[in-house]
Amino acid sequence: MTSPVVGVLALQGDVREHLVALATADAVARAVRRPEELAEVDGIVLPGGESTTISKLAVLFGLMEPLRARVRDGLPVYGTCAGMILLADKILDPRSGQETVGGIDMIVRRNAFGRQNESFEAAVDVRGVEGDPVEGVFIRAPWVESVGARAEVLAEYDGHIVAVRQDNALATSFHPELTGDHRMHALFVEMVRARQAAGSL
Ligand code: GLN
Repeated sequence: MTSPVVGVLALQGDVREHLVALATADAVARAVRRPEELAEVDGIVLPGGESTTISKLAVLFGLMEPLRARVRDGLPVYGTCAGMILLADKILDPRSGQETVGGIDMIVRRNAFGRQNESFEAAVDVRGVEGDPVEGVFIRAPWVESVGARAEVLAEYDGHIVAVRQDNALATSFHPELTGDHRMHALFVEMVRARQAAGSL
């Protein structure tokens, strides 16, 4: 079977680490900055960074509407940290001008883990990931305040939801691309393959 082409939205944030992780998980990984590039991918990662900046740049680069349309259409998408915020149908505390792509019926709180605990690592048990817990790197991370009926909670940490899936959309509060453990990316690439297989029936 040929490898799926998985893009990383490359407007701001930690793009390169995701490209490496995706390649390790047997995808053909590509940076996406233009609508033509978005049109060619079988799945896309929305990286961490600053969600307000990414959302404004996405509008500026003409990517916001095409992203929304493709995600609505079932394009597999994986958002980490700021990317999780972009996938939320609702942000509890948006900055002015901050828009989301949407796709997961959830409400997120930005910078939720607070100032004392801005960055930390923690073992997180993620449903669907075999073996040891995933080492989650949290950097001014959001958490999910609540999810709607169609969203499935995959992980919680300290009583807060930190991983969610709804259909072909996956989101984590933490950054799995920074640890060298690529099981989250492998899980996402499996979602991309499953969609391709369903499409070719
Ligand atoms: N706090 C950032 C935001 O609100 C997210 C941080 C991150 O992606 N590491 O966008």
